[in-house]
Amino acid sequence: MSFSGPANRRNRGASDAPIPKYRVRCVGGGEIVEDISLLSCPNGHDSLLRAEYADRRLPLAPHPGIFRYIAWLPVRWPLLPAGGPVAFPCKELSRELGLTNLAVSFSGYFPEQGATLTSCSFKELEAAPTLQRLFELGGKIPVIASAGNTGRAFAELSARCGRPVVIVVPERAVPRLFTTQPAHDLFLVSVAGDYSDAIAVSNALAAVPGCVPEGGAKNIARRDGMGTVMLDGAVTIGRMPDHYFQAVGSGTGGVAAWEAAIRLRRDGRYGTILPRLHLAQNAPFTPMVSAWNDRRREIIATIDMPNARENVGRVMSDVLTNRNPPYAIAGGLYDALAKTDGSMYSVSNAEGAEALKRIRETVGIIDPDPAAAIAVGALIRAAGNGSIGADDHVLLNITGGGYERVREDFVVHPVEPVAGIGIHEPVETVINELKEWISRYG
Ligand SMILES: *Cc1c(COP(=O)(O)O)cnc(C)c1O
Repeated sequence: MSFSGPANRRNRGASDAPIPKYRVRCVGGGEIVEDISLLSCPNGHDSLLRAEYADRRLPLAPHPGIFRYIAWLPVRWPLLPAGGPVAFPCKELSRELGLTNLAVSFSGYFPEQGATLTSCSFKELEAAPTLQRLFELGGKIPVIASAGNTGRAFAELSARCGRPVVIVVPERAVPRLFTTQPAHDLFLVSVAGDYSDAIAVSNALAAVPGCVPEGGAKNIARRDGMGTVMLDGAVTIGRMPDHYFQAVGSGTGGVAAWEAAIRLRRDGRYGTILPRLHLAQNAPFTPMVSAWNDRRREIIATIDMPNARENVGRVMSDVLTNRNPPYAIAGGLYDALAKTDGSMYSVSNAEGAEALKRIRETVGIIDPDPAAAIAVGALIRAAGNGSIGADDHVLLNITGGGYERVREDFVVHPVEPVAGIGIHEPVETVINELKEWISRYG
């Protein structure tokens, strides 16, 4: 991975153009993709695209939050103010689990620990670089389908920075959206139906001129934003952990942790062995656990997610119920697990409830996101059955929390839909409303 190829040598010559900060490669085909704004491989490979940064060693920037790691984010300037993940040792939880080298990385709101993500989940780590990157690439407006946390993160960033964002959510997710300052640049659409219906509407809206689909796992800004959890963990403890624990729905955070670790390995100062991914889903909806336990790249709905609709309704953490995760795609979660000798865990609601209590008592976060409890459930099991060593270095990603804490410090503003769409209603009316709204941003 050298940046002294012919193109760059030419750049350094007569034109004096700066060497680009990063380039984009198709993981599946291995070729460089010239148009860095693409979400998919233009040569048709079923693959994620990945950023390759010119800085081989990670310099720490004097910016707050995730922008401390701006060298490995696909943006030129920070979007401030910004929070980030915070890593800290947790003596009580370590003692209870018999682990000597456990570090917690928390993404949420817990100012006593320096955690200032006011939208309360690690989705805020994705939203900031995504908005900044789109702005730098010409100012297209992102369209986001969300079941809650992602929408809230983008709404909060839009309110904070005054950048336009289109968010599409299922009706029942509307109450989950709030901002800590009034949002004036949001186009929120509420859809009668479930998350899949919201995705269908968002696809139609993203085709409106001036808009782009946010891209989910295919968006490199999103993955590299989430990857700062691994970067921050390694920088804080001085090395890559041996094990990384997280609850997953799409698995994007797992892919991001793996990609960040690949960059840290290349840096050379943080160790040579990629952390093993330990990723958890919430039973009874566990498609990736089922496919991975068979070492199968394809998720087969009838085998891996039977009774999907019912089972989705039975979990304590519905942010973990993605039915279309980037698992099989080249560079996706199957590859991340295969390359890191990873494990998947199916964690029950009962284990989750027990873990939630442990987090409250030991980490001191009173309202961790239920997803975090699922991750801790997996850690409790792994520590108990010896699949991780007592002295191994462990990084536990507590992906959200602080929903109550944030209300003590801020006036919380609900976000009202500007448009609603019924189950069999044509999307055209909303498209026209969106076009009119966009004309304001000319
Ligand atoms: C989205 C989400 C997850 C799962 O993240 P992925 O890596 O995208 O699967 C976990 N915890 C919380 C709080 C989330 O919002």
